[in-house]
Amino acid sequence: MSVPGADAAGRGDPATIAGFQRAIEAAYLARDRRRGLAGTFVWFTEEVGELARALKKGERENLREEFGDVLAWLCSLASLAGVDLADAASVYARGCPACHASPCGCPFPTTPVGPFPPPA
Ligand SMILES: [Zn+2]
Repeated sequence: MSVPGADAAGRGDPATIAGFQRAIEAAYLARDRRRGLAGTFVWFTEEVGELARALKKGERENLREEFGDVLAWLCSLASLAGVDLADAASVYARGCPACHASPCGCPFPTTPVGPFPPPA
C-alpha cells in the first residue's frame, strides 16, 4: 500500500505530515514499541518541557531543534496509538472544527481552562 509522501521503502518526505510520520516510524518504531506507550508519552512530555524552557528563555537557536523533537515524539506516540497524524490533522483542514470558519470566530479564551485563579 502506498502512503502519500513516502517512498517504496516506506521512508517519508518531511514536507508532508504522512511522510514525516513514516520517516519517524522507519527510524524509531521498533524502539518505540519496545519502550511502550507510557514510556514514550513520558519522553514526549519531557520534550514539551524542553520546548517550554526554550520559549520562556527566548533561546532562538534551540527552538528549531525543540520543535522538531516535539513533533518527532508526537509522531511516535501517534504511531504507537494507531493514529494517522495526517488524518487527525485533516479535522483542521477546512478551518476551525468548532465554528467551521477560517479564521476562527470562536470566543477567545487565553487558556483552555479559564483564568488562574478563578475570579472570586
Ligand atoms: Zn472556531
